[in-house]
Amino acid sequence: MARSLKVAVVGAGASGLVTARELQREGQQVVVYEKSNQIGGTWVYSPQVESDPLSLDPKREIVHSSLYYSLETNLPRRLMGFSDYPFTIRKNGELRTFPGHQEVLQFLNNFVQDFGLLDFIRFNTEVVRVEQQNDQWVVESRRSTCDELSSSEEIFEAVVVCNGHYTIPKVADLPGIKSWPGKQIHSHNYRVPEPFRDQVVIVIGAGPSAMDIGQEITKVAKEVHLCSRSPEIKVSKLEMFNNLWQHSKIEYCYENGLVAFQDGTSVAADIILHCNGYKYDFYFLRTNGTVTIDDNRVGPLYKHVFPPELAPGLSFVGLPYRAVIFFMIEVQAKWVASVLSGKVILPPKEEMLHDVEQHYRLMEENRIPKHHTHRLPLDPFEYLNWVAAQVGFPVDTELLEIYHKFFEFISGASWIKFREQDNRSIWALTSFFDKPTLSF
Ligand code: FAD
Repeated sequence: MARSLKVAVVGAGASGLVTARELQREGQQVVVYEKSNQIGGTWVYSPQVESDPLSLDPKREIVHSSLYYSLETNLPRRLMGFSDYPFTIRKNGELRTFPGHQEVLQFLNNFVQDFGLLDFIRFNTEVVRVEQQNDQWVVESRRSTCDELSSSEEIFEAVVVCNGHYTIPKVADLPGIKSWPGKQIHSHNYRVPEPFRDQVVIVIGAGPSAMDIGQEITKVAKEVHLCSRSPEIKVSKLEMFNNLWQHSKIEYCYENGLVAFQDGTSVAADIILHCNGYKYDFYFLRTNGTVTIDDNRVGPLYKHVFPPELAPGLSFVGLPYRAVIFFMIEVQAKWVASVLSGKVILPPKEEMLHDVEQHYRLMEENRIPKHHTHRLPLDPFEYLNWVAAQVGFPVDTELLEIYHKFFEFISGASWIKFREQDNRSIWALTSFFDKPTLSF
């Protein structure tokens, strides 16, 4: 018979919402803690940015979402629904293949309404401590309303962590930067291109934000110079823009404002925009060192979800990236819910630990740096199929076809030659498509 447990979910973004639905379907008693006053997490756009443009000041007020105003999804709409709840909202009577962020938030709000999830969510309630006590879990939370701040503790049989990982920026450590006189900002604090008008801007990174923002600011900036870690990249100018260049890694930032690249060129820059991604952060989690974060590796985690020593009472949904994210969180959430209800049994602890060690060993053999532990391969379906198989969930063959068609398209696009040395960035280049001509 299925077990009914009291389960806490930290966060009401896409991961927390889908997890709550799956737990509820399995008959669990669910409480979702959400520190803000609405659902959606990443997809809640805020024009507000943090007081420190690099987000290094520990006293700053943290803004959760890193969305910029113009953001459209980097996956086609049909890869951003759930298996039984497709993403088919119409805007102005037409379906955009790559919807704007407002539509994604609307989609998640509809999801909450249609699955009656609102009653499970405690808004304005931040989880400040999650700690194991005997076989149970204490969740300490702080609720803030206009005129009151209150704390409380509650005991759960399991906790699922769904707090997102696009809020705490990684900032590049650049030689000479301390005495370089220009401005620096992280993409977490980028909203609109206007502050970059007439400026010479260096954009660091090779991911979706670097590509998207780099392209957007070419409309107002004097010059935009993209640069990434890949040492093989030679300096080149992108033909379709008259003010966009690509460079290799930064060699040194000089006191006179010059920034030198390893490709031998240098630029008198006004602004360095860091698009280096984000760090995992579970400030509320107390595990006495059983779960650690080392160079952005959260571990040990069996298949990115269960810490073997603490499973199944503690689990994480939504950690891997470069995936078909919404589908990934759906299958991870189904797995967690089935394990908690006792329908699916995890392997013994030693076996899970061995699997994690094997994953680390494979990474080392393939010279994949530690900080990419949770990055899925370019074709993420090997992982997604594996997780889905744990709960006997059939992967929709249409989904696979759409993914492969999309992937083939982006790999084959002519401008890819511009960055062909750097395979990693294929994923990022959707921003250079003529999006309206695509239909998936
Ligand atoms: P989040 O959406 O970050 O939600 C986490 C929630 O937890 C938030 O509501 C937060 O307030 C809450 N929370 C955090 N800490 C606590 C606490 N201590 N107590 C209580 N509540 C807490 N994915 C795609 O599939 N397609 C895209 O096109 C795409 N574009 C992206 C563009 C940008 C700029 C970024 C940053 C991400 C993008 N993503 C995209 C990834 C996106 O983050 C995921 O799709 C998804 O929204 C992640 O959901 P999540 O629930 O895991 O995290």
